[in-house]
Amino acid sequence: MATASALLKLDAAAGFDDVSYEEKARLFDEVRADLRYPEYLYGCYECGICVAACPSARFYDFSPRRIAQAAAREDVELVYQQMQEDIWECSQCFSCLRCPRGNNPGGVITIMREVAVNNGLASARQALEGYSRIIYKIMSTGTQVSPDMLQPDAFPDWGPEVKDVSDNLALWRKALPPETLHTTSTGWDVDPRTLTELYVIWFETGALEMIKEVDEGLYTILEEIMEERLEEEGITP
Ligand code: SF4
Ligand code: SF4
Repeated sequence: MATASALLKLDAAAGFDDVSYEEKARLFDEVRADLRYPEYLYGCYECGICVAACPSARFYDFSPRRIAQAAAREDVELVYQQMQEDIWECSQCFSCLRCPRGNNPGGVITIMREVAVNNGLASARQALEGYSRIIYKIMSTGTQVSPDMLQPDAFPDWGPEVKDVSDNLALWRKALPPETLHTTSTGWDVDPRTLTELYVIWFETGALEMIKEVDEGLYTILEEIMEERLEEEGITP
C-alpha cells in the first residue's frame, strides 16, 4: 500500500504543469537514449531491497524503488518530478546495486542528473549553487579542495567536529605519516602537463559545456583560464 508521503509525491508530480508534457517527454527520451540506460534498468520487482540498502532513504523522503518504478513504467510526469526533486537526495553510494533484478537505480539517477544539468533545470542550478567555489578550484587547478579551504560554517552536515579540525589544522596534518601531506601546498601540486591534459579532457568531453547551463559566470571564467593555457601549449580546443 502506498504511504502518505508517497501519495503526496505522486500529487506533486502533477505540480509542474507549467512545463508541457512534450518537454517532459523530451527529457525522459534524453535519459533513455543514454548508452548506459539499458544496462541500468531491467524492470522492477518492487521488492524494496534497494530501499533497505539505501542510506538516503533513511534520512530523506526518497526511494530508489520509486526511481526504478517510474522509469520502468515510463511515467513521464513522475520522472520529471523526480528530476526536479528526488535525484538530488541520492548520495551516489550505489548500495542499491544489491537489486535482484540487476537494476542500478543510482546509475539511472546519475543519468537523470546529467540530463538535468545539460538542460539547465532549476533543480540542477539550485543543487550546484553552493559548489561554484569547489568546481572552480577543481577545474582550474586540477586538484581537489585543499584543507585550507575548510570553513567550519560552510557545511553544517559535516558535524560539530569540523570546527575543531579547522582550528587545529596544522596539528592534525602533522599526524599524517607522509611528510608531503604536512603542508597544504606540496601534496596538492599538479604537474603542468597533467593540468593541460585535464583541460583538453574537459573541453573535449563537454564537461565544461555542462557548467555553462547551470552557472554561466563560472563557465566564462573557466573557459578563459583554460583557453589561455591551451593556447600557450599550442593546442586549439
Ligand atoms: S546510489 Fe543513491 S539510490 Fe542507490 S543506495 Fe546510494 S543513495 Fe540510495
Ligand atoms: S531492488 Fe530492484 S527490483 Fe527491488 S525494488 Fe529496488 S529496483 Fe525494484
